[in-house]
Amino acid sequence: MSQPNYIHSPVLKVSYVAMVQCLRCRTRVSVEVTAEELKRLRSSERLHRTCDQCGQETEWQYLPLGVSR
Ligand SMILES: [Zn+2]
Repeated sequence: MSQPNYIHSPVLKVSYVAMVQCLRCRTRVSVEVTAEELKRLRSSERLHRTCDQCGQETEWQYLPLGVSR
């Protein structure tokens, strides 16, 4: 009894798209996060990432916009 091993379970690594905003220049970008990262974003509501506009690492705020549909 052989089973094809190329069928992945989609349950394990679900990624979400979170909208975040740079607190310095107000640029909004959507980032792909895991469920765990999303939970962290929602609780701390800040994240540090490099902003292309600012050219340096800035603080980003989570925007709970949800999905637009
Ligand atoms: Zn910025």
